[in-house]
Amino acid sequence: MTNSQPVPLVPAMDPVARLSRCADAIWRLDEACDAGGGFPHDSIALLAGAGLLLAPLPPALGGMSLGSDPASMAALCAVLTMLGSSSQSVGRLYEGHVNAIVLATRHGADKVLATLATEARAGRLSGVWNAEPKDGLMLTRAGGGWRLDGEKIFCSGAGAIRRPLVTAALTADGPPLMLVPDLTNRGVVVDLSGWRAAGMHGSVSGRVRFDGVAVAAADVFGDPGDYYASPGFAAGAWRVLAVQLGAVQRIIALHGQFLRSTGREREPVLRGRFGDAAADAELARLLVTAAAARAEDRSAAAADAENYVNMARTAFERLALAIIAATRRNVGLSSFLAPNPIDRVLRDLETYLRQPFIDASRDSFARHVLAGTAA
Ligand SMILES: Cc1cc2nc3c(=O)[nH]c(=O)nc-3n(C[C@H](O)[C@H](O)[C@H](O)COP(=O)(O)OP(=O)(O)OC[C@H]3O[C@@H](n4cnc5c(N)ncnc54)[C@H](O)[C@@H]3O)c2cc1C
Repeated sequence: MTNSQPVPLVPAMDPVARLSRCADAIWRLDEACDAGGGFPHDSIALLAGAGLLLAPLPPALGGMSLGSDPASMAALCAVLTMLGSSSQSVGRLYEGHVNAIVLATRHGADKVLATLATEARAGRLSGVWNAEPKDGLMLTRAGGGWRLDGEKIFCSGAGAIRRPLVTAALTADGPPLMLVPDLTNRGVVVDLSGWRAAGMHGSVSGRVRFDGVAVAAADVFGDPGDYYASPGFAAGAWRVLAVQLGAVQRIIALHGQFLRSTGREREPVLRGRFGDAAADAELARLLVTAAAARAEDRSAAAADAENYVNMARTAFERLALAIIAATRRNVGLSSFLAPNPIDRVLRDLETYLRQPFIDASRDSFARHVLAGTAA
């Protein structure tokens, strides 16, 4: 290579191969993160070193459009599942980072993508903060830019992420715009005191208050309501399932190791429960693979794509809860005792399974099927 040639920021290497080099280290780091409760800085540094923070960005910004290029979806699914197997908190954080970049890419927000690329080069994630209390985030015009007031809750990476994608409305209950405020600006208050969850400690999902925070015009993008646009919003939930699938596979591996190491694999009752759990894990894998393919099939009707993912979310939840119950019964009390990794992985998954609109998703799927069966 001559000096005049640009150095590629993400050399042409499979992202799955890149992650597989640090996945074991992230798994080992996860225990300390669970016990200490802090943000997983070391694991995110490993992802940055592997080029994975840049990977979702377009090639012009040093990435490979992981998550936006339809040809990248199988690789993204494998990356998210491998991460979920290593650390659900790190997987949750990385999924939010991918989601922020996918949204900015989809809405042609070039300035925002450049900002997120600068952050990624500095080793920092982005994320998507949409959940809010009753009085959510409001955006008002201020001079040539905007002003942000209100609060967001369950903000994964709060205190570590500098440029999250947040949603904020122009009028009470109005459809939101998307923006990437600079959290180093005056008026931002991060409160981590309420994140004393049973699991997902490392996701550090705190509250963030915005009191008259200045936002540049170029940091706001899309039209009101674009965040919820169909099928992207509902169908994109397949990425969360891909992370959770990694956890399910880790649970089966740990459950199997427990039965072998205690000699209890000779007990038909325990073997029966394990067999059911392993079969449910395989059903979950098939479901997530199909949901990812349907969600990203650009030729599919939007309602078909999003309702397939709606169905997958509720069916996956049932499978995962059955796997958790079987594992707790077979492993017994030690499945509740730290530092047994089964305790951590089960607590994380039980917490992470609490996702928005789960009953509404099932209802939407049911209505979709019923509409299709009308005479
Ligand atoms: C680890 C973790 C990290 C997170 N990180 C983020 C993040 O970075 N950004 C972000 O925006 N959010 C984040 N969230 C929050 C997430 O987006 C949801 O807001 C949250 O998980 C909702 O869970 P809930 O059980 O409180 O749901 P709720 O909405 O309170 O629902 C509770 C139950 O009531 C049902 N229900 C709700 N409304 C109705 C109704 N009208 N009629 C009938 N039933 C109803 C639901 O189906 C569900 O079963 C995170 C969540 C977790 C677990």
